[in-house]
Amino acid sequence: MDFLGIGFWYEGFFYEKNYKKEIKNNLAIISEKIRQEKGIIKLINLDIEKKPTVYIFSPHPDDEILCCANTIKALRNKKIPVKIIIFTNGDAKDIDNKKSIEYGKIRKKESIRALSILDIEVSDIFFLGFPDGNLDELGDEIVSSPFTGKNKTDKNDYKSDIFYKKSALIQIIKEIFSKNPPKEIYIPSLKDTHNDHKFVGKIAREIIKKENLNIPIYQYIIHRNNPIKKDYFDDNKWNLIQIFNSQFHNSDNNYYNFMRRFAEIPEKFYQ
Ligand SMILES: [Zn+2]
Repeated sequence: MDFLGIGFWYEGFFYEKNYKKEIKNNLAIISEKIRQEKGIIKLINLDIEKKPTVYIFSPHPDDEILCCANTIKALRNKKIPVKIIIFTNGDAKDIDNKKSIEYGKIRKKESIRALSILDIEVSDIFFLGFPDGNLDELGDEIVSSPFTGKNKTDKNDYKSDIFYKKSALIQIIKEIFSKNPPKEIYIPSLKDTHNDHKFVGKIAREIIKKENLNIPIYQYIIHRNNPIKKDYFDDNKWNLIQIFNSQFHNSDNNYYNFMRRFAEIPEKFYQ
């Protein structure tokens, strides 16, 4: 057997010394699944409830893949916890409210599917359900979405019955952070030309400043002409991008090219 470090045995499992206290507090979470799968006794971190986490801030369902698919994959390969915060359901579709809401549901499913391939569980995706297309109007007053007719979140969103106000959005993110402190954050750049993206970039900076978070920030740009790198094509990423069928179904070539472009350039971040 491998040397397991300094610690102690408890009910057939080996624990690192530092976790003694947590056991006393009855916080022991034993991963039976790991034990069964591996057939060995593993070091188990009992502090999983508060593990420093990498956050990806995504304005719409698909931005998290376009900006960061390979980054997420690399982090998960190292078993680093990653959580995805998706601010809107991407439901700015039609003046017919029902159609827009249904479209948002489709887009959410696409994100769930693509992220599952990158080892992200549904429970690690936070669909906040704030208004798509007019996110940047959030302020002190309650705003409504002209597309869905909603002025608050509903039961399908991460938190229901939250009125569309900036302070409410900040509160939700602070709560998420309080459960799993951020280790680093990926956010939209202020140079992105899409207003929803700019707004998410701004609000992220506000929270980081207010909460005195001394963590690395990585900025990404989705809407801007990123130069294509010659002789570069990422097949795996292209496969993931194509899961977002809702973005391809109109025969608009510009849309197709826009999406494909993210397989034609390596992921790039600015600090
Ligand atoms: Zn977007």
